[in-house]
Amino acid sequence: ATDRQEFTFQAEIKQLLHLLSHSLYQSKEIAVRELVSNASDALDKMRYIALTDESRRDSGTLEITIDPRESEKTLVIRDNGIGMTHDELVTNLGTIAHSGSGEFLKNLASQAKAQGEGQGGSGKPDLSLIGQFGVGFYSAFMIADKVVVRTRSYKEEAGWEWESEGLGSFAVSPAEGSVPRGTEIVLHLKDDTKDLATPARIREIIRRYSSFVPHPIRLASGEVLNDQKPIWVEPKSQVTEEQYAKFYQHLTHHADEKPLWHVHLAADSPIQFRAVLFSPPTNLERFGFARLEHGLSLCAKRILVQSDCRELLPEYLRFVVGLVDSEDLPLNVSRETLQDNSVIRRIRTSLLKGVFDRLDRLAEEQPEEFQKFSAQFGIMLKEGAITDPANRERLAKLLRFGSSNSEDPEARVSLDEYIKRMPEDQKRIYYLGGPDPGAIRKSPNLEIFRRKGLEVLYLTEPVDEFVMNALGAYGGKTLTSIDSDDLELPESAKDKVETPEAEGAEKDAEGGFSRVLDLFREAIGPRVREVRKSERLTDSPCCLVNADGGFSVQMQRLMKMTNK
Ligand code: ADP
Ligand code: MG
Repeated sequence: ATDRQEFTFQAEIKQLLHLLSHSLYQSKEIAVRELVSNASDALDKMRYIALTDESRRDSGTLEITIDPRESEKTLVIRDNGIGMTHDELVTNLGTIAHSGSGEFLKNLASQAKAQGEGQGGSGKPDLSLIGQFGVGFYSAFMIADKVVVRTRSYKEEAGWEWESEGLGSFAVSPAEGSVPRGTEIVLHLKDDTKDLATPARIREIIRRYSSFVPHPIRLASGEVLNDQKPIWVEPKSQVTEEQYAKFYQHLTHHADEKPLWHVHLAADSPIQFRAVLFSPPTNLERFGFARLEHGLSLCAKRILVQSDCRELLPEYLRFVVGLVDSEDLPLNVSRETLQDNSVIRRIRTSLLKGVFDRLDRLAEEQPEEFQKFSAQFGIMLKEGAITDPANRERLAKLLRFGSSNSEDPEARVSLDEYIKRMPEDQKRIYYLGGPDPGAIRKSPNLEIFRRKGLEVLYLTEPVDEFVMNALGAYGGKTLTSIDSDDLELPESAKDKVETPEAEGAEKDAEGGFSRVLDLFREAIGPRVREVRKSERLTDSPCCLVNADGGFSVQMQRLMKMTNK
């Protein structure tokens, strides 16, 4: 045709396509899942428009049709959703819009490189995450060597055709004939994936990956393949663990992953809402990925109004994935009005309480699971303890720190456990920060605590000391860095190495001490405020302590680093 236009893909997409078409990744079914998920998104948007725009009220039954054509080696996935205009086709299927995808692609590329060089213990690049990073469409080229997209936007009369072999470029031309509203994707399957063009395989894939898509998915023969029952409106007792896990996988596009915990909330007054919230098993931010997007979808009367909704939970709980549905929300709440919406504010308060209660229960009933959670997301709770004064007490209960109480450097304790173990007259919770437990253990400041058998928290994460400063005290006990000069040690703590010899030696040394102190004062001069004889050392000759109110040594180090 004369109106055919050629476009080149954005450079990052070219790289991605190269990776995808050469990938040995086994789960090629995820391509079907991604395309079905896009079709479902397009239907969600159409349903929303039909419900909010008077003139589009009559938009027909919204559904997805899958047509496997074995003899032609093609698989067709069709939806009657919003479709795309010419410009939308070029932008949506030619560039990467999402933030964070850049990092995902960089990560993939380095994994692939490591794999090629025969290193990299993790083996194959993890392509299963592709849908989380806004590049799910391109997974089509894992299974097809040619993809044709025919689409017509609900806003237009004429349709467009997009075509590519997944190399450097794609072409867009006006579609011939009349195109129904929505999008049709024709996949010309590769030889090794041609089994996808059979009803049996499609049935299996949809059951496995797409059972929670909230629109009917039909085979061309008419058979409906999915069960669209929304689990969040069911009573808790009716939902199985497996259904929760499947729902989580549906939300995250991650088929092989089980959530660490979930919580199913239901309220009818004063505000009606239902919510199912999950914690992923791993914190991707810790592995060098970009900052997580908020993971909650907001529905009004079962209609999706907003995915990645930021207003439902505070920033530090951005890792929580799930869905919230309310009868009391109008469909036309916009991103701008969400913040000032009183229904949202009340739901937010309930969700936050729901998450805290769930974590309390996990810590109490399944301490090992809680440790797993804490190892991944404890850092975000700590972020909360610093940034959310209103919930600081609640959060402090859930925080875990290293401790001198255990030889195991991985062991973590709560502030409550610390308090339970300490002598009755101990007025403070003691801690010391450092880069790792090994380095902390060497600190001369610890000597007196060892001698007296007093527990010291080991703060190894950079955020830890900021948390202690934000908290100030816990359970009425002041949080004190053991390198400060005022320690207020408990009277009762027994001196564990008190021996007659030690006492005698001390008496002998007494006279010489004042001379030694003078020598030090002369040598160091005004660089320190004071030089004092210390009771806290056993093996080391001297140590530095902080004058009252000063920042701990570790804090000063951190501040130097950040001010550089
Ligand atoms: P994501 O779905 O995360 O946005 P994808 O790569 O899967 O990323 O899709 C890119 C974009 O292409 C979508 O955001 C959407 O705008 C558009 N798109 C893809 N498939 C369809 C479809 N079936 N109908 C309408 N738009 C679509
Ligand atoms: Mg997608």
